[in-house]
Amino acid sequence: MNNIYDVVIIGSGPAGLSAALYSARARLKTLLLERIKVGGQIVITHEVANYPGSVREATGPSLIARMEEQVVSFGAERKKDNIKDADFSGEIKVLKGEKGEYRAKAVIIATGAAPRHIGCPGENEMIGKGVSYCATCDADFFQDLEVFVIGGGDSAVEEALYLTKFARKVTIVHRRDELRAAKSIQEKAFRNPKIELKWNSVVEEIKGDGMVESVVFKDTKTGELSEYFADEEDGTFGVFVFTGYLPINDLAKGKVRMNEAGYIITNDSMETDVPGVYAAGDIREKPLRQVVTAAADGAIAAVQCEKYIETTFD
Ligand code: NAP
Repeated sequence: MNNIYDVVIIGSGPAGLSAALYSARARLKTLLLERIKVGGQIVITHEVANYPGSVREATGPSLIARMEEQVVSFGAERKKDNIKDADFSGEIKVLKGEKGEYRAKAVIIATGAAPRHIGCPGENEMIGKGVSYCATCDADFFQDLEVFVIGGGDSAVEEALYLTKFARKVTIVHRRDELRAAKSIQEKAFRNPKIELKWNSVVEEIKGDGMVESVVFKDTKTGELSEYFADEEDGTFGVFVFTGYLPINDLAKGKVRMNEAGYIITNDSMETDVPGVYAAGDIREKPLRQVVTAAADGAIAAVQCEKYIETTFD
């Protein structure tokens, strides 16, 4: 069983990193698989004010860098691969990646969630040309320009506040007449002179030749369409989309039980309905998707893997 890992963790956001830390520290032969880069969604978050203890240097990347350092120090192996398929039917689980195949006694799925797109014409074509899903990554391109932020949840309003440090004006476009974001965050936005609210509006189309030049809005109450054009001197403006997230569940589809929205259903021990397969973090059906709950899930999953391996293989 030399080439068989005790635990393979798919995904290296806070849930995967925490699982790897606990698993490696328990001296289990641990592999952490990361698809593109370590960190998950939190590395595109400029401020992490609510992870206990993260007061100074509280940025997503700095928190992840410290987690990574800890994981490496406990001896977890790390590989970059995109897992396309999995076979969970046997006692030894098999993961099939673009670069290779991995075998494990237990698997933790921590693949997280990805930004939901608006789904309107022009959106995909304009990604990187004015359309963005990450204020931390792209805000400085919009220094002194106008930006629209689409969505009314915590992410939309927090990122709108961040964007005011760069943009001349930030307009939050929300499909209803009341924000979903926490009241404390809303209050900050209402107090900020650079932020305007465009209520009862959705984006119907994003247009531009090279860069975003105009956006067609639809009034959700009247159905009326209106087109906003970039200021002539600016030539362009930003469209930052924060309309929630979708689970990254392709490799697990049809293999473990999921809810209607595609989130994996687990019990409190992070066990899926397949023995030896666990899920942790944002990919799970859960009431609160935060770094702190992802890290907790990862720890629980790893400890449960240890117990499972002991009883099943020894
Ligand atoms: P969210 O809470 O699901 O909010 C998504 C927003 O986008 C909602 O306002 C929704 O409108 C709107 N929306 C969805 N689909 C849309 C569409 N097709 N067109 C236009 N608008 C659309 O997502 P989130 O803000 O990314 O937050 C996700 C989770 O992370 C939440 O649990 C949140 O509390 C948490 N979070 C917490 C913090 C923090 O504590 N500091 C920061 C960020 C995120 P409706 O309101 O009409 O549904």
